[in-house]
Amino acid sequence: MINTMAKNQISYSTVGFRDRNVQKALEAVAKAGFPQVEILGQEPHVANPLCEKQLSALKSCLKNCGLSARTVHAPLKKNVLGAPEEEWRRGVVNILGNYLRFAAALHAKDVIIHPVPNPIFVPNSNHPSIINRISEAVPRSLDQLIPVAAREGVRILLENLPYPCNYPYLGMNELKCLVDDYPYKQLGLVIDTGHAWTSKKDPSSEIILAGNRLRGTHLQDVDFDYPDDNHWLPTEGGLDWTAILKSLNSVNYSGPLTFEVYQARRGETPEQLASLAYKLGKSWSEGVANKQSM
Ligand SMILES: [Zn+2]
Repeated sequence: MINTMAKNQISYSTVGFRDRNVQKALEAVAKAGFPQVEILGQEPHVANPLCEKQLSALKSCLKNCGLSARTVHAPLKKNVLGAPEEEWRRGVVNILGNYLRFAAALHAKDVIIHPVPNPIFVPNSNHPSIINRISEAVPRSLDQLIPVAAREGVRILLENLPYPCNYPYLGMNELKCLVDDYPYKQLGLVIDTGHAWTSKKDPSSEIILAGNRLRGTHLQDVDFDYPDDNHWLPTEGGLDWTAILKSLNSVNYSGPLTFEVYQARRGETPEQLASLAYKLGKSWSEGVANKQSM
C-alpha cells in the first residue's frame, strides 16, 4: 500500500464551523492546518449551488486560504436518491445534478450523497409499500445522475446512514452490491464511522465490506454504550480507532481522511476541535508512513 493517508489527504468538513459563513469557515479550516476541505452544501454554508460572481468569490477564498475543495457534501434532509414519491424524487435529482456541476466547478473530486431518507421526512413512513418504493427510487435516481457525474468528471459517494428503521441501503453490505453495478469512476462509498456504530454495525467491518469502492471517510466518534451520531472528535468516544485505521489499510484506502466533527465533549471551541483533528490526522498518516518505510 503506497501513499495511503498521505499528509495532504487530511480534510475537515465545514460542518465544524456552522457558527459562521462559508468564507469564515474555510479560513478556520485552513488555520487549523488542513490542506483540504469538505464543503457543506446547505445552510449556513452553500445552500444553493453557486454560479458566476458567488462561485468566483468562493474560488478565490479557497485559493487565498491555500485550500483545495476535496469533497462537497450535497444537501441533506429530504435530498436523497431514494425519495419514495416520484415528484419529490425528480426534484431531488435536479438539485443533486446542480451540486455535481458546482463541485466540478470547484475541482472537487467527490460529492457525498445520502441514499435514503430519514423516516422523519417520509409521510406514512411505516407504510408497507415504502420499502419497495425506496428500493426502486435509488437506482432510478442513480441512472439519471451517473451520466451527469461522468460528464462533469466527479464521483458520487454514497454514505452509510444511522436510521433506526428497516429501509434498504443503510449499511455497506447493500450499498456495495448497489455500487458494483455502476462505474468505479462515477460511484463510490463513504464510511461514516459514527453512523455505523449508532446502528451497532462495527465501523471496521463496514470498511471491509465497502472494500475497493471506499473512496471517502467521515471520521467522527460516538459513545460506545449509547451511540447517538455524536460527531465527537475521534478518540474522545468509544470507537476503536486502531482497528478502524487497520481496516482502512487493509482495503488499500487511498482517499482523504475527512473529519466530520461538530460537537465538543470537553468544552473545546470549534477552532480547538479542528486543530486537534488536524494533529490526529497528521499523526495517523505519519504512523502509516513510518510503518511503510520499515
Ligand atoms: Zn457523515
